[in-house]
Amino acid sequence: MRHIAIVGSGPAGYYTAEAALKQWKDGVRVDIFDSSPVPFGLIRTGVAPDHQSIKSVARRYETTALSENVRFVGNVMVGRDISIDELRGLYDAVVLATGAPNDRRLDLPGEDLPNVFGSASFVGWYNGHPQFAELHPDFAHDTAVVVGNGNVALDVARILAKSGAEFEGSDIVAHALTALEASRIRRIVILGRRGPHQVTMTPKELGELAKLSRACPRVDPADLPPLAEDAALDPGMRKTMGHLRSFAMAGGSANDNGTGTADDAPCPDRDVRIEFDFFAAPRAILGTDRVEGVEVERTRLVDGKPVGTGETYHVPAGIVVACIGYQTSRIPDVPYDEQGGRFANVDGRIMPGLYCVGWARRGPTGTIGTNRPDGFAIVEKIDADVGALGEAGSGKAGRPGFDALAAERGIDYVKFTEWQKIDEAEVANARQGAPREKFTEVDRMIAKAHPSIQES
Ligand code: NAP
Repeated sequence: MRHIAIVGSGPAGYYTAEAALKQWKDGVRVDIFDSSPVPFGLIRTGVAPDHQSIKSVARRYETTALSENVRFVGNVMVGRDISIDELRGLYDAVVLATGAPNDRRLDLPGEDLPNVFGSASFVGWYNGHPQFAELHPDFAHDTAVVVGNGNVALDVARILAKSGAEFEGSDIVAHALTALEASRIRRIVILGRRGPHQVTMTPKELGELAKLSRACPRVDPADLPPLAEDAALDPGMRKTMGHLRSFAMAGGSANDNGTGTADDAPCPDRDVRIEFDFFAAPRAILGTDRVEGVEVERTRLVDGKPVGTGETYHVPAGIVVACIGYQTSRIPDVPYDEQGGRFANVDGRIMPGLYCVGWARRGPTGTIGTNRPDGFAIVEKIDADVGALGEAGSGKAGRPGFDALAAERGIDYVKFTEWQKIDEAEVANARQGAPREKFTEVDRMIAKAHPSIQES
């Protein structure tokens, strides 16, 4: 028997569990730990609430979760409730699938002013992450600046641009919907420190901006490279460029020579403008008691890198959201790669018996599906390392060992069937047309999972 502990119940965690079941069938017991009482990590609190089709992948994880050989151990913080060394003592392999939940910092003056957020906290706020439910972003001003040219920047810009009606069918939490419905933001400036050919936005997500009911995406034609240069791009990037070029044309004054400016482009019958500002690196967040704007320096590319030209300007803004990537949380006694913002590892191996997978291994890149081959690859490595144990296994205590320790420490963990009670309550609480209304307080989740404890 193999005993595997997976830390983190997001996509990387569940794909690893799926791979372990395929590899060892009834010869494995998998415990999936999570600091949250509810599973699915990024699917629940990272994927945009208006992207329900992406969230539906959780059903696949549910099939794995309901296998007798897999169990969810929620509301247990590894590194606090149980140490990594204790887990390694109990399980043949411990796989860290903790994702990258922390914001990278801009490292700019003014970054800590009120109403400046990193995307982890801002996305967590509109997705009902208990840690960020009390963020209270203020939308009582005209302009928002979104820093970054990746899909998270697109998510944030889209959420800021949508009317209340456009959240129909989403699971955006009530506090965010109410605040966004009252928002006075009418201009959203997306700052990219490099150019259109360097964006990491994907075409489907970019195309969504053109379908918004009250917002108009605009690109300054002068920022576009000559059309002929798109030929060297891969097909996905060519589609992305198609969208960016159409956003320049939609302004009304662009032509194939790239003349005309976004400023003179009308946006008929749309009252929210989403402006792409390329070759624009933020240099300081301005303001005294709260953010009032961003100082930006024009850049040019030298060997693909953005280099300041010395030309600066100010973008007045009442809110700034930096969508510039994420870092993995540290766990005591686990070596960390400072530069990469993830666990130090060689192809997923950290030290004997300790592995990492997904964003915790490779950093915050790729789609949810990228984590599937990652999960299968790490199980192959574990099999190579511990697979020769034979039927008797290593003799590690596994589940019963953890349960004994949990009883001794009074760790009252949340099981998958108990998460299902939370799930039912959230579905029952949904406003009309929404799939659920999430609990945003851990205590309320626990009260649903363990009603008898709360009553006594
Ligand atoms: P990302 O794609 O790496 O984009 C980060 C952006 O931040 C880049 O444009 C980067 O510019 C910029 N940046 C980094 N440091 C900066 C700085 N100091 N100043 C200004 N700009 C800076 O990351 P992400 O958008 O956070 O997305 C993470 C992953 O999740 C990606 O793989 C993404 O595709 C995925 N995701 C997918 C979806 C979806 O499929 N619907 C939705 C959300 C996220 P440089 O390129 O110049 O470094």
